[in-house]
Amino acid sequence: MQQTCAQCSAAFSVHNEDLQMLDELSPVIGGVKLSLPSPTMCPDCRLQRRQAHVNHVNLYERTCDLSGAPIISNTHPSAPYTVYDQEVWYSDKWDAHKYQRKYDFSRPFFEQLKELIDEVPRPNLMTGYEFDENCDYTNYAGKNKDCYLIFDSDENRDCFYSYSLNHCVNCVGCYRTRKSELCYECVDCVKCYGSAYLQDCDNCADSVFLKNCTGCKNCLMCSNIKNKEYWVENKPVGKEEFGKLRAMLGSHSAVESARGRFEKLKLEFPQKYMHGVQNEDVEGDYLVNCKNAFNCFDSEDLWDCRYVYQGFMPLKTCMDIHECGEGERLYECSVAGYEINSCCFCNHTLANMSDMLYCSLCHHSNHCFGCVGLRRKKYCILNKQHSKEEYEELVPKIVEHMRGTGEWGEFFPVSIATYAYNETIAQDYYPLTKDEVKRRGWQWFDDVEKKEQKTGEPAELPDSIDDTPEDICGKILTCEESGRQYKVIPQELEFHKKLHVPLPRTSFFKRYRNQLAMRNKRILHNRKCDKCGAAIRTSYQPGRPEQIYCEPCYQESLS
Ligand SMILES: [Zn+2]
Ligand SMILES: [Zn+2]
Repeated sequence: MQQTCAQCSAAFSVHNEDLQMLDELSPVIGGVKLSLPSPTMCPDCRLQRRQAHVNHVNLYERTCDLSGAPIISNTHPSAPYTVYDQEVWYSDKWDAHKYQRKYDFSRPFFEQLKELIDEVPRPNLMTGYEFDENCDYTNYAGKNKDCYLIFDSDENRDCFYSYSLNHCVNCVGCYRTRKSELCYECVDCVKCYGSAYLQDCDNCADSVFLKNCTGCKNCLMCSNIKNKEYWVENKPVGKEEFGKLRAMLGSHSAVESARGRFEKLKLEFPQKYMHGVQNEDVEGDYLVNCKNAFNCFDSEDLWDCRYVYQGFMPLKTCMDIHECGEGERLYECSVAGYEINSCCFCNHTLANMSDMLYCSLCHHSNHCFGCVGLRRKKYCILNKQHSKEEYEELVPKIVEHMRGTGEWGEFFPVSIATYAYNETIAQDYYPLTKDEVKRRGWQWFDDVEKKEQKTGEPAELPDSIDDTPEDICGKILTCEESGRQYKVIPQELEFHKKLHVPLPRTSFFKRYRNQLAMRNKRILHNRKCDKCGAAIRTSYQPGRPEQIYCEPCYQESLS
């Protein structure tokens, strides 16, 4: 079925499989099936709408509105919300029922939900707080221990300055890396160890500057090789020569010169049409261990999923999801945590929830509608407690009312988002100018990139990690690319000495953007394999310089 997007006016397909899944995911309340309508927007606009509610990396200093303690938060101090330190937010010191209201059938639902969202206190950061240990400076992260400034990351230990890490130990400056240890600036790697500057590699160890490598050890500046040891620039060199070259890479100038050579070398090799390993019957990119996944990106362990982005733990039978931990039967959810089942249109559902509709910031709850900030509750509507019978009678009536206003089946509109558009990751994937944002009636915040002034003595980094003194920690460094100030923490210095790679010359925020730019955009193109001519769906845009191969041709081409 062809449809026109209500937001961007592009034509888009609603597939039979989409409609089947919507039918399967339609909630049943008190024996009444609340059928989910066909989407009115194209998949991109739907994703943009979900992303526009998520601020991963912009953090600010402010105070807790209950205790007055200084905290950091992803909600700016000038934003009109009550923000509590997570310790307070997860405690009995406040009661979300205080903000309850009665559903008003004479007004649109989202207007009423927005009033509730505006009033209910919010946690300073979005984490799996109750499952974390010593992780006060992490955001959209959970089940971590002793981590600092990691985002969209779960089940890690001793990791710093990274984005989208899963099950990693002592990794720094990495992007979307899984089950790895002692890795630095690795992007889209799985099960790697003791390595730096790797991209799209799996099962590699003690290596530097590799792309598309599998099962390699002690290799430098190689692309598209498997099960090799002591290779440099795609040739065998022997142990001694490797050792000599590796020892030089403690120096910043040597790393930059190696990077320059490697950038050229890697262009000589074909790329696989999609990034990922251990997938079966999938269409999308950057997928690991997925089965029957359609138009899914940046995810692991998906099963029967459609339009899922950043799913980082097992997800089954889900559609239109942005960022989710483990769950089943979910539709149109943005940021769903652990053990989330049978929920639709939920925004920041933290942990252990089922049968929730249009809820935000709730946890350990089930069977609620349009609620904000509840914990251990059931049968609530707009934070008001009802009996099971009242709930089952009222919800189908509200849904009927929402069908009339055109709201049923739509996720939270961007206009009621609690972050400004340019604070959210929607701006990373769908960048808009201030004027464009304002014209759509969305929020814009002028000070997002404002460079805060750190206190301390300014310093410059020595060329080699060997000459870097312990007292560099606490001094102020200036990002070579953005001019933003940053600091080095002692654990970071220890990591760099252990791995023998130089400290970064750029701030985390610049590295995050650079790493994002190293990856393909989430758009699939129809192309033909550059070797055999087979039809492929790939995120490599036609006209790009790389040779793109289908799976069999690619596997055959590896050395
Ligand atoms: Zn659209
Ligand atoms: Zn081919």
